[in-house]
Amino acid sequence: MANPAPKKSPGEARARRNAGRLLGRKLPKTVHCSFCGKSQHQVKMLIAGPGMFICDECVGLCSAIVAGGSLPDRAYFKPLERPTGELLELLPSVNYAADSSRDFLQQIVDTLRAREVSWADVGGALGVSRQSAWERFS
Ligand SMILES: [Zn+2]
Repeated sequence: MANPAPKKSPGEARARRNAGRLLGRKLPKTVHCSFCGKSQHQVKMLIAGPGMFICDECVGLCSAIVAGGSLPDRAYFKPLERPTGELLELLPSVNYAADSSRDFLQQIVDTLRAREVSWADVGGALGVSRQSAWERFS
């Protein structure tokens, strides 16, 4: 059984409400960095993007790479080697990101269709047939 999440501070509760409103979907109890998989309780800060999150540690790592540093060892992110309880805790965050990405993809296609972009062009951009694009997104 997973450990219960620690009680939320007023600031965290406010940030979760704002993020949920901004992202259009209720956040899971515990959110995780979409890059390294660490939970909100394992890092100082998580920054919300469209359905995804990045922690302060990964931002620092990305900044170092952009500044010319080397890529981290591949051992940095091996979520499938984590204990079962941690994988179960990670599952809602990954599901949240997948659902949010699907919603965002549908919104992009809806926007393109509202601009009268053809199913053939949508399919072409996705590398699928016109028919496949129509079946998936209409
Ligand atoms: Zn991270």
